[in-house]
Amino acid sequence: MLNNISWNELEDLHSSGTYLKRDIQIIRGEGALLWDDNGRRYIDCVGGQGSANLGHGHPTILAAIQKQAADLITCPELFHNPVRARYQAELCKAAGMNRVFLCNSGTEANEGALKIARLKTERTGIIATMRGFHGRTMGALSTTWEKTYREPFLPLIPEVTHIPYNNLDKLRDALNPNTAAVLLEVVQGEGGIHPAQAGYLHAAAELCHQNGSLLIIDEVQTGFGRTGTLFAHQQDDVTPDILCVAKSMGGGIPMGAVLLHERLGDIAPGSHGSTFGGNPLACATGLAVLDVLQNTDILQRTLKRGTDVREYLKAHLNEQSTREVRGRGLMIGIELRGKVAPVLKTLQSHGVLALPAGPSVLRLLPPLVITDEDLWQAIHIIVEVLNTHAF
Ligand SMILES: *Cc1c(COP(=O)(O)O)cnc(C)c1O
Repeated sequence: MLNNISWNELEDLHSSGTYLKRDIQIIRGEGALLWDDNGRRYIDCVGGQGSANLGHGHPTILAAIQKQAADLITCPELFHNPVRARYQAELCKAAGMNRVFLCNSGTEANEGALKIARLKTERTGIIATMRGFHGRTMGALSTTWEKTYREPFLPLIPEVTHIPYNNLDKLRDALNPNTAAVLLEVVQGEGGIHPAQAGYLHAAAELCHQNGSLLIIDEVQTGFGRTGTLFAHQQDDVTPDILCVAKSMGGGIPMGAVLLHERLGDIAPGSHGSTFGGNPLACATGLAVLDVLQNTDILQRTLKRGTDVREYLKAHLNEQSTREVRGRGLMIGIELRGKVAPVLKTLQSHGVLALPAGPSVLRLLPPLVITDEDLWQAIHIIVEVLNTHAF
């Protein structure tokens, strides 16, 4: 309370208004648990909207932040920096890519990718997908599908076409001599958790290359272990020309990156830039994230637990509540027979925080470090709530 106004009221008075907030205050987190100001505990299946794959207060990440914050937080890329050097090398190696442009968010990564695609191909056309989500800044927004996000801001960048996802014929038809790039997610996240079918990304890459176009893969949500491999496309036998990542790459610290395949070379001095990009604090945290993902069994566990959870949901959710269960690893979507919003409220009252993905899909992005006990408790609550909900 401040002068008789609650913190929630104060926030609602001064924040932009763009976010429809839930009626609780989150003040502390540990692993996959969150606590509100009344000391109530929640199992976190929001996972920072995909930015908390390693949970809250991870000791390795905390130690890296504390050490680097004491050494040096900011250092623009006017100068070399050893932490950045190590991070760029390790990230490129982990992704099988050659060069990286560091930025601070997912939409910025996609902006960078679109600019680089124009530079490298000297073409201007972009093919994106229906239900695709790539961010909210003008360039990335032009490739995002959801019309309520796009239409108030028209005109956006020209020559962007949207085709159905998982449809190679439509991709073949849409490619033309002006196509600079095709932009695809590995699992469409915001658009409802629609995974790429087997062979789709591999064939899409071939079609792109036959046409002299680049394949940009947006792994902002699927990256850094979410689907059970460091990057989700590593399950699809495909090598993107450009790989965009962000969300969990900085362990919760804002960070994004555009990774370039060797065949692209570098980009000309001055052709892009970012003040905060490549700051040593984010790079040190990024190193800690890679360390945890690569040197523990968390990826294998995510793959296995994701399969177990989806199978359990398929077996136990009834047909009155659920149309389909989809996902990869611990990126899970449950397509409901009605609206997800009231379900999210009921789940919250039962101590589980979850996400929507569109109007009728319940999306789960629990931190990968969630204990088996908390994961299964959340799943049992979800089954109980969905099977008793009146759709
Ligand atoms: C979240 C998301 C973005 C945008 O990331 P921001 O950091 O919110 O700008 C872009 N692409 C995908 C696939 C995402 O899930």
